[in-house]
This record gives sequence, C-alpha cells and structure tokens, in this order.
Amino acid sequence: MYDIIVVGGGPAGLSAAITARQRGKSVAVVTNDASGSGLYRAGQVRNYPGLPDISGADLLDKLREHAESMGASVINERVLAIAPADGAVGVSRATDVSRAAAVILAIGAAQSSVFPGEAEFLGRGVSYCATCDGMFFRGKRVCVVMRAPDAESEAEYLESIGCEVVRLSPRDMTINGARTVESVTADGETVRCAGVFILRRTIAPASLAAGVELRGGHIGTDEAMRASLPGVFAAGDCAGPPYQIAKAAGQGQIAALSAAGYIDGGGGL
Ligand SMILES: Cc1cc2nc3c(=O)[nH]c(=O)nc-3n(C[C@H](O)[C@H](O)[C@H](O)COP(=O)(O)OP(=O)(O)OC[C@H]3O[C@@H](n4cnc5c(N)ncnc54)[C@H](O)[C@@H]3O)c2cc1C
Repeated sequence: MYDIIVVGGGPAGLSAAITARQRGKSVAVVTNDASGSGLYRAGQVRNYPGLPDISGADLLDKLREHAESMGASVINERVLAIAPADGAVGVSRATDVSRAAAVILAIGAAQSSVFPGEAEFLGRGVSYCATCDGMFFRGKRVCVVMRAPDAESEAEYLESIGCEVVRLSPRDMTINGARTVESVTADGETVRCAGVFILRRTIAPASLAAGVELRGGHIGTDEAMRASLPGVFAAGDCAGPPYQIAKAAGQGQIAALSAAGYIDGGGGL
C-alpha cells in the first residue's frame, strides 16, 4: 500500500513523484521504460526552463534520478487497470495488484481509439494481459495483437500453456461475437478464435480507468487536476494540450499537491 501511485514516468509523472515525496508521501511510479515517452526521441529540447540544450533521453534520465533520489520507487511495468475500491485505488499490472490512497495518471498522449468491439468484449474474450488471463484460454485458439515490446514473450507464454496462437499486426481490426469473442476480422481476413490479447504499450484511458470522464479523448480534470473518479488525478499530455514538457511538469506538481491534500483530508489543493 502506497500513499500515491503514479502511472507513467514521463515529465508529468516524475514531477508529480518529486512533489509528492516533498510532501512526505510514499510514492511508486509504475511505468513503461523511458523509450515509452515520445520525449525519448527528441534529439534536442530547447524550451525547458534552465536546461537550454538537452536531449529528451537525458532529460528523462535526470528526472528519474531526481525522483529516485527523493525516495520514489520506480517500477518498470505496464499498468493494465486502475479502479477505486473501499476508499483506496487498486492498480493492476501483470504480476501484482497494488493499492494506494490516490493515483495520478500521467500516461502521456495514450491512444484513445480502440478497435471496434474492444470495449464491448473486454473481460469476455478481450484481454490486455496474457499472464493474467492466459489460463482461461488453455487448449483454445487466441489471436495476439503484437504492438508492444513484450508481445512476443506474451505470445510464447500463451503457447507454453497450450494455446494455439495466431500473431497479428493489423492496421484495422474488428472483434466479433455474441456473448463472448468468436472471431476477429483483421485487414479483411476473418480468424476464428476464443480470445484476443491486445498488447500495446499504452491502454486507452477509458479501458485503463473504467468510468473515468473523457473530454475530447483526454482525461477530463478540474483546475486541481482531479479526474472524475475518487482519489484519481491526471496530468500532462493525457490531460490535454498543449503537449509540452514544462506544462506536463507543472500539472504533475499540481496533481501531487492535490493528491496529498486529498489524502490529508483537505480535499485537494
Ligand atoms: C519527437 C518529440 C519531440 C518533442 N520535443 C519537445 C520539445 O522540444 N519541447 C517540449 O516542450 N515538448 C516536446 N515534445 C512533447 C513532450 O515530449 C510531451 O509533451 C511530454 O513528454 C509529455 O509528458 P507526459 O509525462 O505527459 O507524457 P510522456 O512523456 O508521454 O510519458 C508518459 C509515460 O507513461 C507511460 N505509460 C503510458 N501508459 C502506461 C501504462 N498503462 N502503464 C505504464 N506506463 C504507461 C508511457 O510509455 C510513457 O513512458 C516532443 C514530443 C516528441 C514526440
């Protein structure tokens, strides 16, 4: 149990972690590795105050070092779902479920569009995690959508437990079925299957945090970066434009102050 779990280790999430530690809160940042941030590809950043000439990768390294030096734990893993429960927020990843008094979503400009049928069949044949759900499909044919660095190892895991695996890298895909998944149509070709594992680096906000209010595809927040679910805050690109590092870091700080206030019973900032 942490005071605050931050999902996403870009400028927004790491800035949030630094401020949350300054407020004396225990903090874990659960994130894909640094290359999951678009900033990693920026050869030169010229508009971040105080650091006039730094590469995106170096800036991410410095932010992580800073957060860790303040006592934040950084866990390199994908978060699959978050859900408020019993006055806390549960954070699910492939290997574990953790709980925190508050969660800050700093997932970047995560894709908000999903395949037709994906939301409808989530939990009824659609899964984001082979390790979590693979056993339900033992002896059956499943499709694996290969859009994350760990997709091949997840596909191999499914084969090792006795699934027949069809690997797909579709441009378009529709998931078909009645009560549960019966087939997918990928780039015009229909493949019968009992399940489909969609393995992307990021998960659309509506699937990651069921019931969270969206605004124009982003996570809707108020001025204190509170999202619509209790104990859940959002910051950075996932909370809307402008998509800039300084704005992401600033919103991360506001979200952390709000989360700390929420935990201390002050209701936010
Ligand atoms: C090529 C390029 C150059 C840029 N140059 C500049 C520039 O010069 N100046 C500027 O101000 N801005 C620049 N930007 C924009 C800037 O990178 C973003 O605005 C900024 O990184 C947003 O920070 P963030 O923390 O909100 O999101 P991100 O930096 O995207 O970080 C989000 C992190 O969360 C991870 N994540 C997402 N979902 C999950 C999940 N389910 N589980 C675990 N982890 C997850 C992601 O993989 C990523 O690591 C540039 C962007 C690009 C692509």
